Amino acid sequence: MKIITDDRCTGYSREGHPERPARITTTVERLKSQTELPLTWVPPGNVEDAQILRAHSPELLARLEIPHDFDADTPFCENIPGFARASVGAALVALKAARDGENAFSLMRPPGHHATRDQAMGFCYLNNIAIAVLEALATGSKRVAAIDFDVHHGNGTEAILLDQPGCTYFSIHQFPCYPGSGSTDVGTNCFNYPVAPDAPRETYRATLARALGDLNNFQPDLIAVSAGFDAYARDPLADGSLLAEDFHWLGQSLRGLGAPFFSLLEGGYSRDLPELIFAYLKGVEGHKFHQ
Ligand SMILES: [Zn+2]
Repeated sequence: MKIITDDRCTGYSREGHPERPARITTTVERLKSQTELPLTWVPPGNVEDAQILRAHSPELLARLEIPHDFDADTPFCENIPGFARASVGAALVALKAARDGENAFSLMRPPGHHATRDQAMGFCYLNNIAIAVLEALATGSKRVAAIDFDVHHGNGTEAILLDQPGCTYFSIHQFPCYPGSGSTDVGTNCFNYPVAPDAPRETYRATLARALGDLNNFQPDLIAVSAGFDAYARDPLADGSLLAEDFHWLGQSLRGLGAPFFSLLEGGYSRDLPELIFAYLKGVEGHKFHQ
């Protein structure tokens, strides 16, 4: 299992913001202190403008350089374009690892799934998963499925992948919730699975299982996973009901589909994030869940 990360992703922050460097540093500590999973630590690679520009407008790239907050949730920080590009670079390393037959998890920030073609929003600046999907399609993959189990709808990923040939997008999320979209399917290839706030855990699990079944019916040759851990019962930002063992089950279920896949960290704001990620990785590697 490759874990793609480096110190670059902890070099920016805004005081009081839930999307904070400790999300990564505590997870790195947890993963380095365990001996159950053999992990290889890999830094992000480089990314070229042409790869980003399949998903984003030149105007967004220019906007990232302007020192003004993007919205109330999405601060401008010194060198934010560099941090955002490193996160994309990690996604591309994860994509390559999956194609080489390895398990891979990008443990980076900023997340990406709310960033649209033209707009940074919702803690996201560049859409890591959409850029990776479009890179895969441009370099030989024929059927790429993106699945997003972050508790928030990936409005940016949906907008970028909408009606793009060769790919599908499946999002399971709380609705109503930020950003307000995701109540119904959109276009020919974007499928949404809304779950009501405070829905029972069984309902959330059944909805995830339904989405995984639909994804499998698409018969992807590659799966890109937006792995958010904020549908966790104790996450402060939403009203989900999942437990650590559900994230283990998600990893195991994705493994069970048999197609190569790679995962990118999106949200997840509780202090238990390291345990949730560890549980997920154990599932991905086919290890049993132990609390
Ligand atoms: Zn989220």
